[in-house]
Amino acid sequence: METKNVPVRCFKCKSMNVGPSVDHDEITVNGRVFRATLAAQVCRNCDEATIDAGELVQFALVVAQELVHAGDHSPAAVKFIRKALGYTGKDLAELLDVAPESISRREAGRLQTDAATMATLGALVADRLAGKTTTRDALLAFRHVKAPEGPVDLGRLEAGSYAFTA
Ligand SMILES: [Zn+2]
Repeated sequence: METKNVPVRCFKCKSMNVGPSVDHDEITVNGRVFRATLAAQVCRNCDEATIDAGELVQFALVVAQELVHAGDHSPAAVKFIRKALGYTGKDLAELLDVAPESISRREAGRLQTDAATMATLGALVADRLAGKTTTRDALLAFRHVKAPEGPVDLGRLEAGSYAFTA
């Protein structure tokens, strides 16, 4: 978890009797409700709960992954997944190498989001959950592609280290 805002005192009743616990949260996307139990700081005096910021980010990413797995390519799902990744429309357009308008058109329901885009969004979400940047790096490499300058020496290839399957 990146940031954990641990309140020293309850912002509601000002009690200092605040400690780690859990709280329930739900997210609704395209009419589907997702529920989770998340780490939170809970006031033992008034029961006010503040869910840890990192947990909310994680919850949104897990919901995004569920949407991709369910094949939900509705405008609401596409918008939710983009936001769960923390991208602006411009950020995502740059990564996907499309015009920024194409993102807003998808999210407004004027352009159908295709399978390849959904798969890429799914890979970005899976990477983020795994703490990797593989898909993002590959997309950026495509954007910054240069003409090859000469032979690429890959060294002595170990037998079995590369698997080719038909
Ligand atoms: Zn309180």
